Amino acid sequence: MRDKDIASKYENCLICPRKCGVNRVTGGRGVCGMGNLPLVNIYTLHYGEEPVISGTQGSGTVFFEGCSLKCIFCQNYDISHNETGKGTAYDAEGLARIYLELQEKRAHNINLVTAGHFIPTVVESIRIAREDGLTIPVAFNSGGYESVDSLKLLDGLIDIYMPDMKFFSSPLSQKLCRARDYYEVCCAALDEMYRQTGPAVIDSDGLMKKGMIVRHLMLPGQLFDTKKVLDYLCGRFGNDIYISLMNQYTPFDYKYPDMKLPDFLQRKLPQGHYAAAAEYLSILGQENAFIQEDASGEELLPDFKT
Ligand code: SF4
Repeated sequence: MRDKDIASKYENCLICPRKCGVNRVTGGRGVCGMGNLPLVNIYTLHYGEEPVISGTQGSGTVFFEGCSLKCIFCQNYDISHNETGKGTAYDAEGLARIYLELQEKRAHNINLVTAGHFIPTVVESIRIAREDGLTIPVAFNSGGYESVDSLKLLDGLIDIYMPDMKFFSSPLSQKLCRARDYYEVCCAALDEMYRQTGPAVIDSDGLMKKGMIVRHLMLPGQLFDTKKVLDYLCGRFGNDIYISLMNQYTPFDYKYPDMKLPDFLQRKLPQGHYAAAAEYLSILGQENAFIQEDASGEELLPDFKT
């Protein structure tokens, strides 16, 4: 993709399913709140991902600012909602340099976190980095609300997809991220991601080389919704993918008074519900699963610039 083609994608932005149609080059802003130059809050070796991603040397993680989904309970709220402006703007060449620097630091992979609203630039950045010597896998870490057309631009460039599947219920997704169509959009996105990577491949060191890890953060009081998500994932993909069942939901509204969490989200997840969901996953026959031992969440995150 040439510079001119990249720019044109931001001029009438239909990059994600929000389809805002704004001109991000001339100052227009859609739901994601971002202009046309990717803002990177922090990039670092990250040890808080699943073991097949973080390994022993860490995942070379690049945290992008902004988000097109903006869940009201976001565990990365600092950079997804606040649009701190503390991040640094990079063009495709600059992003490629970051990937190569992380590879130099012996990262197992490059891990692009919430980059969906910058896909045209990401496409170009990976091409440049590959030409300049990037050999480690590239992972695309996403809230699962991506457009299939945009994902197709990443075909052949992404080795590992790490999408969320957050909700089954439309009223729930409407209430928590104003996306009534979340489940349908996510199902289509996961199909496209899986089409690109195929079944998971783990090397002799226990590291993922290609494939898909679908994450589901359990929310308090939503065990039925969780089971519907697990039914779908196991029925559709089974052990060709990994499922990461996450229990670290933390009501961060004490930090951010404007979050206005509904009552059912103002508590931690009952760990009995987590155990029940983990058992359900096992009953469904899912062997490729990551189950967490404890519920500590915040220390899994790096210190963002806020
Ligand atoms: S990427 Fe941002 S501006 Fe473009 S359609 Fe999505 S939310 Fe709207």
